[in-house]
Amino acid sequence: MALAQNMPLLSRLVSSSVAIASHAGGIIRDILKKGELGIVEKENASDLQTEADRAAQRCIISSLNKCFPKITIIGEEGEEETLDTSDKVFDPDAMPAVNVKCPSELSSLAEEEIVVWVDPLDGTAEYTQAFECLQSGHQGVCKTLETTCASLLDHVTVLIGIAHSGKAIGGIIHQPYFNYQTPGGKLGRTVWGVVGGEVGGMPLTSPPEGKLIVTTTRSHSSSTVNDAISAVSPDEVLRVGGAGHKVMLLLEGKAHLYVFASPGCKKWDTCAPQAVLEAAGGVLTDIKGIPIPYHSTAPHRNSTGVLASAAGIPHKEFVNKIPQHVKDNLKA
Ligand code: AMP
Ligand code: MG
Ligand code: MG
Repeated sequence: MALAQNMPLLSRLVSSSVAIASHAGGIIRDILKKGELGIVEKENASDLQTEADRAAQRCIISSLNKCFPKITIIGEEGEEETLDTSDKVFDPDAMPAVNVKCPSELSSLAEEEIVVWVDPLDGTAEYTQAFECLQSGHQGVCKTLETTCASLLDHVTVLIGIAHSGKAIGGIIHQPYFNYQTPGGKLGRTVWGVVGGEVGGMPLTSPPEGKLIVTTTRSHSSSTVNDAISAVSPDEVLRVGGAGHKVMLLLEGKAHLYVFASPGCKKWDTCAPQAVLEAAGGVLTDIKGIPIPYHSTAPHRNSTGVLASAAGIPHKEFVNKIPQHVKDNLKA
């Protein structure tokens, strides 16, 4: 059903993005099923792009453009991927709308003031490894990856982050493979949040008391990354893929902190997760505790790292525990 044009822009944009992200998740699943991943290397061998990244971005950007022609959209996979997309447009009105309440201070934004950061597929490394592992016929635990092959699909998300005045204000995290282990269960889940408003699409859970669980990268580690983790003295470290997936662990009460002292993450990795996390009462900053800027002209790279805390975790105390040499290593 069409959204009423008199609803606040942010409510319409979040609701439409929920539908578009869910549709993009279907594209990602279809490409894996067909097995034609079309993998290319971007910056290096640990920075891959597949046909799923490209096709999901084409769908997301062309569909958002059609509904909201004056917003600025920045996608991970570059501008050439948004050309010739006339057949890729998805009409979000084809899915039931979610009802998104808009805080009064964000209720009269104009399209020209909005920047949307799109990561069409976060966790590409895990998506390709799960595919290769499944292709090679591994069932159960894979010795190479030391995990259940298919469980890597849990690390994949579609991220649509909405920014205004350089701040993350709204976010959509779609998990295309949520529930894949439940026979007959509905595949996929879309979580959304508005800062100063609410979180929808999942129940929020606090992490356990009396211990500290840290989540971090499994495929982009370094000595600086590991020094930062040791400095917060975790009881447990969950090395998993994707910025979206790691923030989902904070929202699900499976981890207290996301620590990534590396310049590897980009604005499209953090904008949507940050907005959803902050809507839930958590915090996401760089590793020095400084807010990450999301203006259209901001550098794409989060060169000073990422530190995120679940709701109720004293973020500042953990910023103070990050060693000075780690902070000095990460220059803006
Ligand atoms: P990870 O936690 O390693 O899954 O990384 C989260 C996001 O940041 C993913 O989109 C990665 O592709 C990206 N990322 C992190 N580190 C790097 C890196 N060294 N090179 C390229 N992309 C990276
Ligand atoms: Mg990413
Ligand atoms: Mg990506």
